[in-house]
Amino acid sequence: MRINGKRLISDLEDFSLITATPGEGVTRFSYSREDIAARQRLKEMATENNMICRTDFFGNMIISPKKSKGTILFGSHIDTVKNGGWLDGIYGVISALEILRTFEENKKQHDCTLIVFAEEEGSNFGSTMTGSKFLTGKYGPEKLDQLISDNGYTMREVLQKTSFSREKQKEELIDINFVKAMFEIHVEQGPVLDDEGFEIGIVDAVAGMKVIQITYEGIGNHAGASPMKGRKDSFIAAAEAALAIDEMICSDPEQNIVGTIGKLFVSPNCSNVIPEKTVFTLEVRSEKNIKTEATMEAAKKIIRETAVKRKIKCTISDMASSNAIPMAEDIKSTMKKIARKKCLKYKSMSSGAVHDAAMMANHIATGMIFVPSINGRSHVPEEDTRKEHLICGTQYLMDVIQEYI
Ligand SMILES: [Zn+2]
Repeated sequence: MRINGKRLISDLEDFSLITATPGEGVTRFSYSREDIAARQRLKEMATENNMICRTDFFGNMIISPKKSKGTILFGSHIDTVKNGGWLDGIYGVISALEILRTFEENKKQHDCTLIVFAEEEGSNFGSTMTGSKFLTGKYGPEKLDQLISDNGYTMREVLQKTSFSREKQKEELIDINFVKAMFEIHVEQGPVLDDEGFEIGIVDAVAGMKVIQITYEGIGNHAGASPMKGRKDSFIAAAEAALAIDEMICSDPEQNIVGTIGKLFVSPNCSNVIPEKTVFTLEVRSEKNIKTEATMEAAKKIIRETAVKRKIKCTISDMASSNAIPMAEDIKSTMKKIARKKCLKYKSMSSGAVHDAAMMANHIATGMIFVPSINGRSHVPEEDTRKEHLICGTQYLMDVIQEYI
């Protein structure tokens, strides 16, 4: 069975026009006007193809043929970051829809269900993968009142305002205990496949991570009247620690760990005052929990030693931590078998970014596929993937799924 590649691309192009920022990438936050318009379009496409479309209490959308038992799930998300790309998330949704349509056209019996996870990017409430967290029980209903948007509304209030809240049903639409397997196809969002000339990435594991926040407190003073000798400059200490940590991580022989100092506040943040206080974060990610742990411990040692050397006060707080999540062995070997059979250039790789598939993988046998991102760009308007790679990825996902239906 062949998917319709032309239709896949044309649908993706159509959805890229549903954006709050025309000409400046795709901005489609969950529950926004654009999200509702995209859901409406998906619903029309589903009904045109004899499928039914429902929305659960949290805004996850479920599309399936009337007779599907829903034991095989596939999908992704349709929300984006601000000024994001045209493929992140929606590619996995339109791919799944294209596969469902191809099955329908070929009168193929199957038990597949497409799931569109709500609020994956966390643009409303600062919590990523919200829809899949509710679905898998990681978040209980009390979270509906605890998650607050930037403009002060709880998630419950935001959901009540959406038009699809009227269609919501009380019961869970998907009981994950009856699902046999889950699949997500996604753009890589990094440069590995594109740089190395691969067509397909088979995700081995989604990286785990640890985040800490460091506060360095020195002594603020007049920038002109204080000699360099004897200064207790909290920012210079942070810069010294940052460079040492970067060097340590860059020199890792296995090259399978990343570290980022992504947030930094300097106080008082004046050009003529020595920074008294600097607060910064360090995030470390790797597919091996033991390595993430060891690297973070080594980084903390550098941070403390730098503080001692620079005679400043140092406080470290643990902010967040998540374990690496392996994808199902059985699915990975089926994926490799099919990639070899189809003579595809594939690479087993870990995912540095977290996806809904990772939430599901804690409960269901889950597999994840990447297609190359040109120059590794993502979450920006320049995000792109060659059309032949988009078509190849969807066809490959269909070939894999056929082993499970
Ligand atoms: Zn995504």
